[in-house]
Amino acid sequence: GTVFGAAFDDNWHVRHIAVTSVNAMNKLRGSKYVQSDISTTYQDAEKLLQAGHTVLFSGTPCQIGGLKGYLRKDYERLYTIDVVCHGVPSPKVYQKRLDEVTELSSSPVIKVNFRDKTPGWKRFNIVFQTENHIFATHKRRGPYMRLFLNNVSTRPSCSDCAFNNKHSLADLTIADYWGVNKHFPLFDDDKGVTLVLVNTEKGAGLFADCQSELECQQTDFKRGAEYNAALSKKMTPHPSRQLFFAELDHKSLSALANEILGTAEN
Ligand SMILES: Cc1cc2nc3c(=O)[nH]c(=O)nc-3n(C[C@H](O)[C@H](O)[C@H](O)COP(=O)(O)OP(=O)(O)OC[C@H]3O[C@@H](n4cnc5c(N)ncnc54)[C@H](O)[C@@H]3O)c2cc1C
Repeated sequence: GTVFGAAFDDNWHVRHIAVTSVNAMNKLRGSKYVQSDISTTYQDAEKLLQAGHTVLFSGTPCQIGGLKGYLRKDYERLYTIDVVCHGVPSPKVYQKRLDEVTELSSSPVIKVNFRDKTPGWKRFNIVFQTENHIFATHKRRGPYMRLFLNNVSTRPSCSDCAFNNKHSLADLTIADYWGVNKHFPLFDDDKGVTLVLVNTEKGAGLFADCQSELECQQTDFKRGAEYNAALSKKMTPHPSRQLFFAELDHKSLSALANEILGTAEN
């Protein structure tokens, strides 16, 4: 079948693409913390489904909601997976960060990794690599992630999300299992544990199909959501969000992050 999901293009923009081989699925792996351009993937998925092909569509909960609204009917061969999402940063802010690191290092970006787990899953880095430099910052210290995690740079629609808090329309939902070190300490190797929520019978079938290839441990929603703010709370925009966007064309992301959030912790 065909798998749709978010990938980097040649300019490090994030957009939805279709892949049809296991090797190409690598492009979809790894969370990209910016709104992905859905491009023509709803239309492409519909054509494949109408022709009787199997489609797995992954994305944010609103992108799965959008797909279902676009299709307006159920397809037996359609499977959907969403990520738990507390909001997506605006592509304008991401472009600004790409421009900033390009300018700071006087060389083009050659790699972006939103979740470099070299220091560990819980203390991950965001990495922008250019030909001359590697900008690697802890998730709570670099301006891009600080502005995202504090809901300063997220889209306005994210604060009024119709799909979070158990309102997902996807067959499976994936998230970080924050708190796994408390619930299952022996299971936590700090390399990352994904929380998988099985929402539908189709999702149960998908999960059962790959279970033999996974190391898994059963939990329940209450425990899985206990330390996961995006699963247990509504996202409220930062009070200075509007100020941030008003100043975005005039100041650097570091200056704005320090002004709005204070200097980063060490
Ligand atoms: C914008 C965003 C916000 C998130 N917020 C939270 C949160 O608050 N709490 C939490 O527990 N988890 C959140 N996640 C999910 C988390 O980052 C991991 O995806 C999840 O823990 C599963 O990890 P994984 O390594 O198994 O899968 P990953 O490799 O991280 O996930 C790969 C899948 O994610 C999809 N994907 C990647 N980037 C995007 C994107 N920009 N837009 C749409 N789909 C995308 C790909 O298509 C692919 O199917 C968020 C993910 C995104 C993209």
